[in-house]
Amino acid sequence: MKENTQGCPRIDALSALIDEALAAEAAAEIRTHAATCPLCGAALADLHRVRTAFARMPMPVLGRDLAAEIGRRIDAARPAAARPRGRVRWGWTAAPVAAGGALALSFGVLLGSLLVAGGSVATPRAGLEAFATVPPGGICLAPACLR
Ligand SMILES: [Zn+2]
Repeated sequence: MKENTQGCPRIDALSALIDEALAAEAAAEIRTHAATCPLCGAALADLHRVRTAFARMPMPVLGRDLAAEIGRRIDAARPAAARPRGRVRWGWTAAPVAAGGALALSFGVLLGSLLVAGGSVATPRAGLEAFATVPPGGICLAPACLR
């Protein structure tokens, strides 16, 4: 049984007892506790009164299918272009995704083949010497580099 810090069952356990959703052992444990605990006894009595009051309420009967009516109103409020036309047509909308996927796959195969072949990936050198960390890079501030 789930309990709070005072050793009382949680309200969801009391509610489950009222709904007859607990196993017999757990239900008996809660009933035993509620018989001696004024807080849980009162909560259980309140839940029982609520359940009884709901059970006495008349079941409303609608004269029509409300879901179909709501669906018709949603369709009427939606612009014609946004209305579903049956099955989904991918057409050219999937072309950029497919092209991107093919490009990424090709690039992966290229890099993988370079690694498997033992080759190294050539890095472009033009214009990057200024950012090199090892002299003769242009950013070296060591006295030897400043001469
Ligand atoms: Zn209690």
